[in-house]
Amino acid sequence: MVITVLKRSKGLISNVIDMTKFDISLFTGPLAEEAKKIIPQVFKSIQKAKVIYKKEIKNPPNEISPAPKEFWEEIIKKCESLGIGLIGFAPVEEDLIFKKDYVGGIELLYTNAIVLGMEMDFKAINQAPEPQAGLESLRIYAELGTATNSLTDFIQSKGYRAIACHPLGGPILYPAMAVKAKLGQIGRQGLLITKKFGPRQRLSMISINAEPLPDTNIQEIDISSYCEKCRRCLSSCPVKAIYDTPIINKNGTTTRIDSDKCFNYFYKTVGCSVCIETCPFHRIGYKVLYYRQI
Ligand code: SF4
Ligand code: SF4
Repeated sequence: MVITVLKRSKGLISNVIDMTKFDISLFTGPLAEEAKKIIPQVFKSIQKAKVIYKKEIKNPPNEISPAPKEFWEEIIKKCESLGIGLIGFAPVEEDLIFKKDYVGGIELLYTNAIVLGMEMDFKAINQAPEPQAGLESLRIYAELGTATNSLTDFIQSKGYRAIACHPLGGPILYPAMAVKAKLGQIGRQGLLITKKFGPRQRLSMISINAEPLPDTNIQEIDISSYCEKCRRCLSSCPVKAIYDTPIINKNGTTTRIDSDKCFNYFYKTVGCSVCIETCPFHRIGYKVLYYRQI
């Protein structure tokens, strides 16, 4: 039997976020109490995504299911009820699948993608690089992970096949997939910047064997011309991890960050987020483009 609905990596290398390296001793008092609830939720949601994948891959389908526009409308409505603020659709790009998904163990994906984003709290991110901002990142990893699993359950209950991809780690380059799904553009600091939340969101994905994908009519946005002039993230990164000139790789992807430098600081601060906090698209929002003075 020839299976055509599954997509696999062409060898893209990923950098793993190792949660065991987070310095959680930074969380003290009420933050420690919150962390005690949030961290197990992160692991629980990762575990559930792994179970979904194992079940799916045991008996993969050999054809793509047709989906009417009413089905996609239901998905969009369900997202809203789960607190998922961003939803976009795009075919899964094999060039963007990682050789190894260290966190979820996912090796194969279905043909199409539902790309999801959840906003992080504005005030918490304003504390970056203090632990409040790091804890907010973890909270969204837990909430978006749980919501992604619930949406996957919902899709499966409608008779479609779906694989949940957790926001922490993940089998595919989420920001690039989000650009393909027309959710936003990549900023100088390598993060997705959207019209709704600026750089203040975490991303996840569901791969699904359904088509045709809906046309969500999301407006194109223009970030790159602003980033060309603005260097705030570059100068404010505490460990100078953001490259002045991004590296264009042979496979067509772009590397904007020295991930060794970034990850070391990221672990020490449990999530850093300075390059989110400092970005005008976080502080002021998309209206910065109407006032192009930097
Ligand atoms: S997360 Fe922090 S260390 Fe990493 S690039 Fe952004 S500002 Fe620099
Ligand atoms: S801080 Fe400035 S240069 Fe960096 S991503 Fe935001 S707009 Fe672009």
